[in-house]
Amino acid sequence: MSENIFITEARIEGDDDGPLAGKTVAVKDNISTEGVRTTCGSRMLEDYVPPYDATVVSRLKDAGATIVGKANMDEFGMGTTTETSHFGETDNPAAPGHVPGGSSGGSAAAVAAGEADLALGSDTGGSVRCPAAFCGVVGIKPTYGLVSRYGLVAYGNSLEQIGPFGETVEDAAGLLDVIAGSDERDATTRPPQLEGERYADAATGDVDGLQIGVPTELLEGADEGVVETFWDALGALEDRGAEYHEVSLPSVEHAVEAYYVIAMSEASSNLARFDGVRYGHSGGYDGNWNEAFAKAREEGFGDEVKRRILLGTYALSAGYHDKYYKKAQDARAWVKQDFDEALSEADVLASPTMPVPPFELGESLDDPLQLYLADANTVPVNLADLPAISVPAGETDGLPVGLQLVGPAFGEEQLIRAASALA
Ligand code: GLN
Repeated sequence: MSENIFITEARIEGDDDGPLAGKTVAVKDNISTEGVRTTCGSRMLEDYVPPYDATVVSRLKDAGATIVGKANMDEFGMGTTTETSHFGETDNPAAPGHVPGGSSGGSAAAVAAGEADLALGSDTGGSVRCPAAFCGVVGIKPTYGLVSRYGLVAYGNSLEQIGPFGETVEDAAGLLDVIAGSDERDATTRPPQLEGERYADAATGDVDGLQIGVPTELLEGADEGVVETFWDALGALEDRGAEYHEVSLPSVEHAVEAYYVIAMSEASSNLARFDGVRYGHSGGYDGNWNEAFAKAREEGFGDEVKRRILLGTYALSAGYHDKYYKKAQDARAWVKQDFDEALSEADVLASPTMPVPPFELGESLDDPLQLYLADANTVPVNLADLPAISVPAGETDGLPVGLQLVGPAFGEEQLIRAASALA
């Protein structure tokens, strides 16, 4: 396996029968698996073996799936390329020499390489949709609250959802059927709102009469070849009876800033638990607890994680809280409002998933700000708690391009129906 897709290869057999019997699934390594180490791509958790399963993992087992490994990822989900992993980079099976996207890069690569039929990732600001787009597979970011986060190691807990990958929309929707629904261990969850029986049944490809809104702001500044591929895919939907019109989301101009303030603030709090005492890399106690904690965190975390903990701590500190965190929350409310308005005149919104094609390996590591800006089209959706799907739209210069569809809260069925016209 030259691509470095898995951090840990492990076979976890599920029940004998069920809707996923005979299917193999790769699980992102920030989703807890009882008895199988769960590293979050970090040295901090290099030897951490959870004593329990995440709810989604129990549901996979009950559904008869076989888990084939824990997939590589950016450290604690912080990244867009899977290059911040302590366990090395993953190559993109659909575009060798390029990044698979991130942070769930190993999961998407597993499906693209045929190492697994399906995969689970997590999406805090695009981490399912970006690697789906870069690897030429399908990825779904569910509405906030549709899928249990119990057993998902938290990064930005108010933003993130576990989401499925598949080669086709129907495959990904079938996995969503298994993981979706309320869980008494996650009070933010609620049941699916389905018109039919299953999400997978919605993958009919019927887009006749579908009203598509195209937010002009999400095309501005995007790579030319990406935009061309996007319009070609939209044309294919039009040929099948869909109609589109332009819409405006003025607030998205501030979405990347707001997202990174909120995500880093939540990260600084969520990652405070890693002190090397209860679990994780130990700093070794030498008579001074402060020094032991500092050493554990200095050695256990990589640069990107440290950068975010520092910035998040700063944004939340007395005197700066109102200036950064509160402002970001105001921007979040504005983004939500804009989406509500745009979706009152359209069934779904369409844009390129990523404004750029996959970077070459190593190309983007030195410029974190540039990398944050690559999330421009995905993070607004997390700020608004909405569902979205990334579906292959075609290629530019031989590199995969993804089309993103965004729908109203709990409107996954609609997204699945529309996206299944393309894959
Ligand atoms: N690239 C974004 C970030 O680094 C998204 C990550 C994610 O969705 N986990 O925060």
